[in-house]
Amino acid sequence: MKIARIDIYQVDLPVRGGVYRLSGGREFTSYDATIARITTACGRIGWGESTPFGATYVAAHAAGTRAAIDLLAPALIGMDPRQHDRLWEKMQTTLRGHRDARTALDVACWDITAQAAGLPLCDMLGGRVPGRVPVISSIGGDTPEAMRAKIAAHRAQGFIGHSVKIGAAETEGGPALDAERIRACLADRQPGEWFLADANNGLTPEHALRMLALLPDGLDFVLEAPCATWRETQSLRARSTVPILLDELIQSEGDLIQAIANDSCDGVGLKVSKQGGVTPMIRQRSIAAAAGMVMSIQDTVGSEISCATILHIAQSTPRTLLRCALDPRTMVDLSVAHLDAPVTDGGVTAPATPGLGITPDMQVLGDAVASYGGRS
Ligand SMILES: [Mg+2]
Repeated sequence: MKIARIDIYQVDLPVRGGVYRLSGGREFTSYDATIARITTACGRIGWGESTPFGATYVAAHAAGTRAAIDLLAPALIGMDPRQHDRLWEKMQTTLRGHRDARTALDVACWDITAQAAGLPLCDMLGGRVPGRVPVISSIGGDTPEAMRAKIAAHRAQGFIGHSVKIGAAETEGGPALDAERIRACLADRQPGEWFLADANNGLTPEHALRMLALLPDGLDFVLEAPCATWRETQSLRARSTVPILLDELIQSEGDLIQAIANDSCDGVGLKVSKQGGVTPMIRQRSIAAAAGMVMSIQDTVGSEISCATILHIAQSTPRTLLRCALDPRTMVDLSVAHLDAPVTDGGVTAPATPGLGITPDMQVLGDAVASYGGRS
């Protein structure tokens, strides 16, 4: 089997609710999605997506994603889409870094591999773990009472995992406001619920320590991505007892190994387009599992294509270590593909059809913005 053609599509995904707020005054109103269609010489088609979370989340932005694909895609023409490690090496030797760009291509190749095997992708990634994958809520930074109400609304839908965004600037209320947000969000906590307070790298150790000092003992939550650098993270780690989950700092296998070697965290947030696709996701999942780290399986953001990729990886992750998965469909207001994976009672199962199990809507995708290789 050989890759004959690669087509790239661009779609703007409007933010559900109008605006999404992160620490440091970051605001988003839409996300620029890059979607790859890979066609083999024998006519098989696979799809993959990479949608950076704006330009200020990690070192990636959508125009850069497509510029990098412009270098990567021609190098993959003629290669076997099922040889994932060889494809990854080819991308590594063609262009350093740019994991966001590798993602759309890597995922599309895995879609082809699973389709060719006649299996849903989760069964190519170690096998389906029975049961539903718990979906996590994403509660943007707001007033404490508004955030508490959003948690209650998600709880009423069956959600047991909640990601609460913190990182208030000093002028907005600083550590005191963040402490109030955490208290309010945990005020109605039910047995079995799991809470992340996610700072998206937005705190100094001083901010984090002041915030933690304002919280009562016994609050059951995990602090996610408190600081922007390893030095700050390690300093906070040594001076606090709160469990820490790292996200933005861990992109490569080397990053994860560094975190394990330094005992920097207790868990890791793995995101498809942050890690670089399915290939590094499952490598890092194995490394994290060997270190006893809990995981959330997510993506930066995205459409149904990103969602399906998340679901297959999460569905094949041991349940003892999987804390939750993100459903990025809840973050945007546009459907790009059909995906039969409804969220019921706070959980979702990966599709049972071969490959990713998605059918793109070509009306929404429109014409390709770039094409590589032979005729379609
Ligand atoms: Mg995070």
